[in-house]
Amino acid sequence: MSLKLDNLHKHYAETRAVDGVTVELAGGETLALLGPSGCGKSTLLRLIAGLEPVDRGNLYLDGEDITALSPQKRKFGMVFQDYALFPHLNVAQNIAFGLVELGWAKPAQRQRVAELLSLVGLKGFERRRVQQLSGGQQQRIALARALAPQPEVLLLDEPLSNLDLALRESLKLDLKELLDTLQISAIYVTHDQSEAFTLAERVAVMRHGRLEQVADRDHLFKHPRTVWIARFLGHKNLYTRVHSERARELPVPMPALLHSELVKLSGDLPAELRALRQTGQMCELELFVPSWGITLLWQGFARELPGGEVSPGKPVGLHVPEEAWVPLEEGT
Ligand code: ADP
Repeated sequence: MSLKLDNLHKHYAETRAVDGVTVELAGGETLALLGPSGCGKSTLLRLIAGLEPVDRGNLYLDGEDITALSPQKRKFGMVFQDYALFPHLNVAQNIAFGLVELGWAKPAQRQRVAELLSLVGLKGFERRRVQQLSGGQQQRIALARALAPQPEVLLLDEPLSNLDLALRESLKLDLKELLDTLQISAIYVTHDQSEAFTLAERVAVMRHGRLEQVADRDHLFKHPRTVWIARFLGHKNLYTRVHSERARELPVPMPALLHSELVKLSGDLPAELRALRQTGQMCELELFVPSWGITLLWQGFARELPGGEVSPGKPVGLHVPEEAWVPLEEGT
């Protein structure tokens, strides 16, 4: 299986919701679409599902142009944020919904429903009413329903967003295991970095309807392409032109990112401890490096602190390896 999105466009009046998206999904791969609210993730997923027509561009499944196919003919499974289960049907009827449409015989339907309930950890729930289920259970049923007809691709739109934190964390891990076991191709839409990085090996960062960077998650974290992406991913030590007055002799041109997790608190580079904040075993240091004219934020375990007295105002020697610096493109 391979799914190719080729230069997809979708505008709503003045809003360019999807603005020239090109990306390919390989068989068995989970791709996360990560971006802030309003960047066009759901619209892109709806275009892929065929729930909305594209303005321009094409979709290819195994080389075949499926741009004009109806949602039913695309054979994609879809899971929504609000579960979207049918309230008047019981659990088994919900899961079997797509199978009935496809004309599966009753015994085969029953067997498939039981198989899926076991897969999502809800064995024996066939006769339950969906209103009696918790949010987490409803989302598991929605997942079972999407998987029942053995879709080519599973499309997930913020499936964990309506759940409380503890449930979200546990379902996130269960979902990861399920996707790995099934080896199904999936596109996972989220605004949550931890969900994207847990569930997908490859992450597409979306902004203003465009894919800003598509990369392996480790590469994305280590080498974000632009200042905006680095900031969106939560990197703290970013140096832009704003710093240019003070920043001198930096080993890389600005803008740049410094990976403080690679910085060692023992070395020859003179620095000054400006602030130290400790919470339990963790601590955060604000370090000023006079020769570069920059302040860097270092976070780590308190036990990693160098011996002797470490307190604000005291000099500290740092070791900053070359690979800790990553040059960025402007793109703010
Ligand atoms: P996301 O899923 O990343 O939050 P959406 O795809 O929902 O973003 O929306 C992208 C942009 O398109 C937003 O500016 C949104 O207001 C607009 N938009 C989405 N759907 C519609 C619609 N049916 N009609 C008009 N504007 C829409």
